[in-house]
Amino acid sequence: MRTINDGFPIKQFNGIDINTSTLSSPANYYTYSSRVVKFIVIHYTGNKKDTAKNNATFFHNGARDSSANYFMDEAECYQSVALNNAAWAVGGTKVYKHAECRNINSISIEMCCSGNSIVSEKTINNTAYLCAELCKYIGITADTVDIFVLRHYDVWDKQCPAQWATENSAGWTTFKEKVKAILRNEEGLTMEQYNELKELINKQAAEIADLKNINKQLVNVVQTTMVYDFNDDNMPSWARPAVQAAMDCGAIQGDEDGCLGLSYKDLRAIVREYRCGLYNK
Ligand SMILES: [Zn+2]
Repeated sequence: MRTINDGFPIKQFNGIDINTSTLSSPANYYTYSSRVVKFIVIHYTGNKKDTAKNNATFFHNGARDSSANYFMDEAECYQSVALNNAAWAVGGTKVYKHAECRNINSISIEMCCSGNSIVSEKTINNTAYLCAELCKYIGITADTVDIFVLRHYDVWDKQCPAQWATENSAGWTTFKEKVKAILRNEEGLTMEQYNELKELINKQAAEIADLKNINKQLVNVVQTTMVYDFNDDNMPSWARPAVQAAMDCGAIQGDEDGCLGLSYKDLRAIVREYRCGLYNK
């Protein structure tokens, strides 16, 4: 729910600019300085084949006794009625099916048809992104899409959009799931950001694995080539008491310069022997 006093708060969604160059004639809607909006209602134009621009022009040019806030086709989106104004879109002469949703508290999106009065997947996809953008604007979350995003069919008994106008329409469910998925992604990361991050993490994991491998090789080099000449800080601390005991009892002696010349393997052997008591005095 949001109090709307900005007529054109959304300029762009999913790479599509919202065209506001061809607004509806004021004869086609109720004018308000602000209004409280809770619902988004999805329609189809019902024409055989049309475009957002066709519709924007049609409603621009005169009194039509109806209107919508947005017209969406496969490539373009035209906003026809400012969001603070109430389009004449969900009203009807029959009894309302929905207890609350009316023109005054809803935003209507009309999907254009791509032939045989069918709304194409491309247009449906674009509409899902526009719908998600509007959800974010008026405070509908992924968890409340099922309550606040409606078909004209849900508001009163009009077969609109015709291809979704049944109680358990799979197409309508898929549309709402798409809107929820967009909202969930954008509440956290966009799909693109997620993929970028995943790639970065994988790259870093590979680098860490390489470093571990290099470290292993270094340890190996130390263990096979390092020579310990003196019982000092260069010698591993675990070996020093054993080496000292071996020196004390004369088991190991250095060369003429006092260099012990012990390898890593020698250190381990001396420690083993020390534990076995060989260097006890
Ligand atoms: Zn409708």
